Amino acid sequence: MTLYGLRSAAAALTFTLLFGAAAQASAPQQKSQAPGYYRMMLGDIEITTLSDGTFQLEASKLLTNVTSKQLESALLRSFLKDSLETSVDAFLINTGSKLVLVDSGAGVLFGPTVGKLQANLKAAGYRPEQIDEIYITHMHGDHIGGLLVDGKFAFPNAIVRAAQQEADFWLSKSNMDAAPKEAKDAYQAAMTMIAPYQAAGKFKPFNGDTELVPGVRAVAAPGHTAGHTVYVVESKGQKLVLWGDLMHVAAVQFPNPAVTIRFDTDSAAATAQRKKLFAEAAAQGEWVGAAHLPFPGIGHLRAVGSGYVFVPVNYSALH
Ligand SMILES: [Zn+2]
Repeated sequence: MTLYGLRSAAAALTFTLLFGAAAQASAPQQKSQAPGYYRMMLGDIEITTLSDGTFQLEASKLLTNVTSKQLESALLRSFLKDSLETSVDAFLINTGSKLVLVDSGAGVLFGPTVGKLQANLKAAGYRPEQIDEIYITHMHGDHIGGLLVDGKFAFPNAIVRAAQQEADFWLSKSNMDAAPKEAKDAYQAAMTMIAPYQAAGKFKPFNGDTELVPGVRAVAAPGHTAGHTVYVVESKGQKLVLWGDLMHVAAVQFPNPAVTIRFDTDSAAATAQRKKLFAEAAAQGEWVGAAHLPFPGIGHLRAVGSGYVFVPVNYSALH
């Protein structure tokens, strides 16, 4: 290269550094996240976590059986502060012959930061009318709010299934009448979301531990609500347990599973279920997924001292 050539290359580099850098800095920030779906295979079964978005959870107002000092230090250990941005996750299971959705997100019940399940379902390559069955872990609004869109079936070909005890509790007018004023909305939401499916013969409750489709079974885990259910997915020796609302705040309840939440119908039973299923997950090394774990909400548990550490799924792009 000639001296002239070297000089012009240096000049070009200087130009790029000065003006190239300036051009980058002037690009507008995008202020949006990647589409909220995450895929993994469990044996022959395809699992897709669908994000419904996030909401702010005021841990200090909602968590119970924990002092404010304990709460603050548990959050700080995870570099978090109250209130917490909390994921709302649902899980799509493609067994190869059936397409099953576990929980439906919040729909319009919890404001604009959630209710994104439909968009993320489509981003994940599926259409709402392809879903055959929807299994509800429990009938709180952030799990059933997505069943209807503008009063119509959000999943027009799906049947909805939940534990009979859950239906008996939330769809009971006398339970609603007896509930304190601030709790009545939860009953009303359950009735609003489930009633059209009932009227169309598309709501089919089950009793106790039941295989619902090959590879997916319901296991009763009452406590958070009367008919709270976890769903176990198994294929080729691999197992994923979908916990629903067995826990809400990872940073606090994994180190101390005795911490409870105000929404529990029966806190003592909820704690017992959490301790039992945490211990099982750590002992067996099975996959777990939960509605309010940070997206994609899937991982493993390791026992440490009297508590646990959650190990999120290692990101995979091989699908
Ligand atoms: Zn929930």
